[in-house]
Amino acid sequence: MRARCALAVLAAALAHLAASAQAPRSISLIVTGGTVLTQNGSRQVLAPGAVAVNGAEILEVGTPQAIAARYRAAETLDAANQIVLPGLVNTHTHAPMVMYRGLADDLALMDWLQKYIFPAEARTVSPEMVRVGTRLAALEMIESGTTTYADMYYFEEEIARTTREAGLRAVLGQTIIQFPVADAKTPAEGLQRTEAFIKAFRNDSLITPAVAPHAMYTLDAATLKASADLARRYEVPVIIHLAETEDELRIAREQHRMSPTAYLESLGFWRAGTLAAHGVWVDDADIEILERRQVGVSHNPESNMKLASGTAPVVKYLAAGVRLGLGTDGAASNNDLDMFEAMRQAGFLAKHASRDPTALPAQGALDLATLGGARALGMEAAIGSLEPGKKADLIVVATGRARQTPVYDPVSHLVYVTRGDDVRTTIVNGKVLMKDGHLRTLDRAAVIRAANSLAQSVRAAVKER
Ligand SMILES: [Zn+2]
Repeated sequence: MRARCALAVLAAALAHLAASAQAPRSISLIVTGGTVLTQNGSRQVLAPGAVAVNGAEILEVGTPQAIAARYRAAETLDAANQIVLPGLVNTHTHAPMVMYRGLADDLALMDWLQKYIFPAEARTVSPEMVRVGTRLAALEMIESGTTTYADMYYFEEEIARTTREAGLRAVLGQTIIQFPVADAKTPAEGLQRTEAFIKAFRNDSLITPAVAPHAMYTLDAATLKASADLARRYEVPVIIHLAETEDELRIAREQHRMSPTAYLESLGFWRAGTLAAHGVWVDDADIEILERRQVGVSHNPESNMKLASGTAPVVKYLAAGVRLGLGTDGAASNNDLDMFEAMRQAGFLAKHASRDPTALPAQGALDLATLGGARALGMEAAIGSLEPGKKADLIVVATGRARQTPVYDPVSHLVYVTRGDDVRTTIVNGKVLMKDGHLRTLDRAAVIRAANSLAQSVRAAVKER
């Protein structure tokens, strides 16, 4: 009798255990029914697939049936007939420069910088301009599928606060430059400002503060070294423009008898966690240095083409194993922050420059904008693919337009016909920032109104010249 009773208790306990194992777990978010491009090691595609998210992290990627059986979500997004992929990583921007979009076009970099951009900045950069501009940039990035961006500008603490409010992830570099600028009269003041910025944001879940010495040609050796030392002391990234134009190469050779890359190597500047933007004028020895020092390189095809800066050796970088990502550069030289366009132009430029249509295929371009960007920023453990344990940064792209019909290969479509405007839903750190085109963290009309209003003072400042 007692034995039978004990057996009954055991059976009941086992039944309860089995039931609880099968009971769906409560989580925060499921995105289901779309074609899921995981961008994992085998570039697995689930058609259809589903992504289970809890809090800031991805729990599981699987079939819609498997995910539905295991989880109940507070919010479920239907992605049927759409493509779900990791959020795009823009490795080079100057976010507030959206305020100078279209202000001066069709000029060489040095003319453009010295005659238009630096004077316009001297007259108009302020904490308010930076806030209004960053909000506009954040709106554009959320609407076009960028979930992480790397930035270098002034008043970077304002950019950090605005970015956090918008809900984007970012590596933000406070600029250090030799001449007086809006937020620092001297490089020493710039360094102090940067240190305060690092202290204020180094434990943030979305913002990674960084040190951003502008370039080797706008800083002396002592400040370049001090910038690298500051970053080392706080273990934060460094962001610098590198070998963007032939002029920069000429200056480096004249002044230091070395390439810009070799000069910075001679200063002990390079280390893992450094991001070099452009890297156009590099030779094989430079590429070897960048690979050996584990420097991330940001390729900016549109800016390089518009300013006729030259062509970065993308195929060589990839063959050498350099941590290559993709960027738009500031909107003043692009003139937008659309990473789909950047992918397409990266592909076209690599093919055109090498006269080889197999150079940088669609999957390679998509890799640059996702995993490549994550690697360039040293964030590959957290972002760049849809895998359990990674941050839930993902986007949903519509495929119903005439130019997207029919769909044989989703990767081909993402790179060769998709535009930023096709992005319907953007999720960062598990938080839905835009759902089916409806923004949750920004008021689109108010952001655009504020930017148009501020543009009047930019226009007036440029006329004063
Ligand atoms: Zn730049």
